[in-house]
Amino acid sequence: MSESETDRSPLRVLIAENVEDDALLMVEELRRAGYTPTSKRVQTALDFNTALARGTWDIVLVDYMMGGFTGMQALEIYKKSGLDIPFLLVSGSIGEEKAVEFVRSGAHDYLMKDRLSRLGGAVRRELREAANRGVQRAGVVEIQRLNDALQKQVELLSRANTHLEQLTFAASHDLKEPLRTVTSYTQLLLKRRSSPDEQDEFGEYIRDGVERMRTLIDGLEAFARTSHWTGDIPRPVDADAVAADAVVLLTEAIEATRAVLTINPLPAVIMERIPLIQVFQNLIANALKYRRGDAPPDIRISAEEQHGEVRFAVSDNGIGISPEHHDDIFLLFRRLHGVEYPGIGLGLALCKRTVEHYGGRMWVASDLGVGSIFYFTLPLATNVAAAAS
Ligand code: ADP
Repeated sequence: MSESETDRSPLRVLIAENVEDDALLMVEELRRAGYTPTSKRVQTALDFNTALARGTWDIVLVDYMMGGFTGMQALEIYKKSGLDIPFLLVSGSIGEEKAVEFVRSGAHDYLMKDRLSRLGGAVRRELREAANRGVQRAGVVEIQRLNDALQKQVELLSRANTHLEQLTFAASHDLKEPLRTVTSYTQLLLKRRSSPDEQDEFGEYIRDGVERMRTLIDGLEAFARTSHWTGDIPRPVDADAVAADAVVLLTEAIEATRAVLTINPLPAVIMERIPLIQVFQNLIANALKYRRGDAPPDIRISAEEQHGEVRFAVSDNGIGISPEHHDDIFLLFRRLHGVEYPGIGLGLALCKRTVEHYGGRMWVASDLGVGSIFYFTLPLATNVAAAAS
């Protein structure tokens, strides 16, 4: 059984040829080779372009010269189309050299009209190669997809790693100090040379140290928990309502400090309600805590939409932060003050990490003695109606 007898596949053929008989011969040859061809013959650049754009072709056969339209023009049109259908030159009037030139320019093969019996074999081979190219392209797309997925995983891992490094550093660095206190006073107590008053005093230090260690460990736990996010898909939330909730939680401190709070209209953002309340609550609480002695806190919350995200600003007229600390205040347990301001340096680290988890950024602009503006961005919820639902 010859190859042609086994292969009865349909074949859609676009033929650019000005001699009708030649086109018929090609179709006949394809039929003889075992195909069931359906064909369209065109003779002008315009018709070729239209047919290529509108039809679904398995193969394109093109003559070298068709009156005013040339095979080379057809090849240019074909290349611009971005299609990958076998493109074969079938000509009678050119020498080998010109035909080779044609293939160099992008045609898949060429055939002389006086050897038309080879058409079936050439078409079969080119169709096979085109199919292989398709498989390769799909492979490249799949590799690209896998690469992107891998890249995302690497980023996630690297973020988790930084998080872990911060935790480890903070745990070892910040827990050491109260641990040293506890150890040294315990040793003094164990020596039993101290008076009862001194023993009471040492006992106090030890209790303070242990208490501080407990607070730090609670903080570490809270920070560590932020690496186990629920994975819930964040929905639009109305930042206006969330900021109001945060203010309610701080009513006592606001009244005690006689703070003035101004909240401008805030849009809906893609975030979860509770974490956003915590961010506002931390920033407002800090603005109250790090106030100047000479004026009641003046705290303003506003938002600006830019490039599909919302940039929030929480400003105060407090003690301010000198520029060299603008980055490190966001590190875990990093504090710029001693006991005069209570705290463990956890709030800003948590806020920044939370905002980053939801695709935003956080930073500060501040002048010592003048005040601070804490900025953070979040994706804008364009469908505000969804926020209400
Ligand atoms: P904490 O307040 O417990 O120390 P934070 O992480 O909230 O922890 O803040 C880290 C440090 O950043 C604070 O110790 C303080 O020095 C500084 N800081 C934070 N907010 C303000 C603010 N609004 N004005 C001045 N300094 C601030």
